[in-house]
Amino acid sequence: MPFRTIIEPFRIHSVAPLRMTTEAQRRNAVQAAGFNLFSLHSDDVMIDLLTDSGTGAMSRDQWAAIQHGDESYAGSPSYEIFRDAVQSLFPFKHVIPTHQGRAAEKIIFTVLGGSGRSIPSNTHFDTTRANIEYTGAAAVDLVIAEGRDPASLHPFKGNMDTAALDAFLAANRGAVPAVFITITNNSGGGQPVSLANLRETRAVCQRHGVPLFLDACRFAENAWFIREREPGQQERNVADIVRDMASLADGMTMSAKKDPMGNIGGWLAVNDDALAEQCRNLLILTEGFPTYGGLAGRDLEALAQGLKEVVDHDYLRYRIRSTAYLGDALLKSGIPVVQPIGGHAVYLDARSLLKHIAPLQYPGQALAVALYEAGGVRGCEIGTVMFGRQADGSEKAATLDLVRLAIPRRTYTQSHIDYVIEVCQQVAAQAQSLRGYRIVSEPKQLRHFTATFEPL
Ligand SMILES: *Cc1c(COP(=O)(O)O)cnc(C)c1O
Repeated sequence: MPFRTIIEPFRIHSVAPLRMTTEAQRRNAVQAAGFNLFSLHSDDVMIDLLTDSGTGAMSRDQWAAIQHGDESYAGSPSYEIFRDAVQSLFPFKHVIPTHQGRAAEKIIFTVLGGSGRSIPSNTHFDTTRANIEYTGAAAVDLVIAEGRDPASLHPFKGNMDTAALDAFLAANRGAVPAVFITITNNSGGGQPVSLANLRETRAVCQRHGVPLFLDACRFAENAWFIREREPGQQERNVADIVRDMASLADGMTMSAKKDPMGNIGGWLAVNDDALAEQCRNLLILTEGFPTYGGLAGRDLEALAQGLKEVVDHDYLRYRIRSTAYLGDALLKSGIPVVQPIGGHAVYLDARSLLKHIAPLQYPGQALAVALYEAGGVRGCEIGTVMFGRQADGSEKAATLDLVRLAIPRRTYTQSHIDYVIEVCQQVAAQAQSLRGYRIVSEPKQLRHFTATFEPL
């Protein structure tokens, strides 16, 4: 390519207004929200990087597919279109739609979990961990050591530590109903897993007779990283790489609010007939009939179309490059970020930017609030607010204090991102003047969603 500018591989077809606010208005809004960015009205947010989940823009063809939705209770042709689209990438025998990823997790772990059991993963996503622990089972993270080091430049920091997995399976014989692997590793910074590591993980699982499942929310981004970074993969079609990944697993859980470009949706897919039967029975209890799960026929159609669009190379090149564009600009400005830049988000290292704020005074929260006040940019604290509360009620510093800037798919243009870069630069220049926070009120669990804060 002779030109350096990354252009969005789409034209804007329908727009939503973005309300401009002043710093004074934002200071009032965030104070009224108890300095919790989850409690803001999204009208008061200019650039919303809270999450990439369900916040992407659907395409013209997805909106057209919505018109094609068939809302029959049973046997809807929209289900077949959805199932075929899933199976063209993930040829699992049984495809069970759910309203989002955690519903698929709830069902599979109701069957596989239970006290005395353990489910290892590279890193469990928070809802996955919560659903496992709810059944009394243990959720165990076995990512490679580089995956826990924010400064490591390893190309596949999401990889499973296969030696640790082997040892774990040997030590817990009969107590591990399944191994999961999250692609990309969301809780570990959106870092990919290599095909070679998936193969090794598969071999370890096979040796111990334990099935392997994918938590495949960002499978296309993972496959693109494989194509870019893994020896011998450069000339391949991403859809073929995805099929390779699927061929190494016995099933998957999925949030269709991520790579499938949906605003809602998910699925569970398995090869095992008896397991599928148990899952379908649970599905009927909480989600719905097996040909719609928790979704409308129109949602199934939109997802089928989204699955075709997400494996497009022009889209993925733009997606991964544009996330890196933000991360690289911040690095160049001397702002510490987790490296390499992940697929769906850039993670600011608040603890190292705000060394004067102790972890128990929440440097991630301080940075996230400052970005909002300065420029109306909403990110998400991933640190001591999110993970610091212990089961016994005590509090301790999380491993890292980060602020995640997650990029919704096809939603913001380069000038929006240039603005975010400027806001980050301005806040970083005034980092020394930022103060920590204390928690005024908090619930017993998942406190980051509803806690209220006060500046120190
Ligand atoms: C979002 C996500 C989930 C949960 O999906 P929901 O649709 O939000 O319920 C599970 N695993 C990973 C890796 C995710 O990113």
